[in-house]
Amino acid sequence: MALSKLEQLYRQVIVDHYQHPHHHGLPNASANVQTVIVNPSCGDELTMEWALDGETITAVYFDGIGCSISQASASMVTDLFRGKTITEAKALAESFSDMVQGKIEKDEALGEAQVLAGVRNFPARIKCATLAFKAIEQLEKGKYRPAEDSIKLAEESKKTAEESIKPTEESKKTAEESIKGKIAKNK
Ligand code: ZN
Repeated sequence: MALSKLEQLYRQVIVDHYQHPHHHGLPNASANVQTVIVNPSCGDELTMEWALDGETITAVYFDGIGCSISQASASMVTDLFRGKTITEAKALAESFSDMVQGKIEKDEALGEAQVLAGVRNFPARIKCATLAFKAIEQLEKGKYRPAEDSIKLAEESKKTAEESIKPTEESKKTAEESIKGKIAKNK
């Protein structure tokens, strides 16, 4: 089945976001809260960091693993939610959910994210497409942690990684000594 020109264009936008995600990479020093959301049915995981000024989302950043739809959608969310209030973002998330379920055709307010409307034909991918949008519910319900924690965690995991190099050197010594021991025994 050949794709129409429009479908090809939509697919290209999704691939571009997947390959060159916007506001990607954590931790981000300007963010003040962090949310983590998963879609177990596909294995998608998104960590999102939010710079909030009162009710206004001044910036969103993300990192994660998962399918191209979940990652492209997250990239689009970081553009779409920027400058919106939590209430406005929640309304966009609801509109997006309606669109991918086929309850509404499109919503211009969703901007580029409208290219994901086609997932309504692939019910298994709807959760992938809505994952990043659902994170706004976590913000609304206060299910987040301070972003400084993630910076601390990142630093700690770096330290742990550095420390894990040392035991390797020690175990190398032990291995060398045990070889020496064996050689000595054989003599
Ligand atoms: Zn997925």
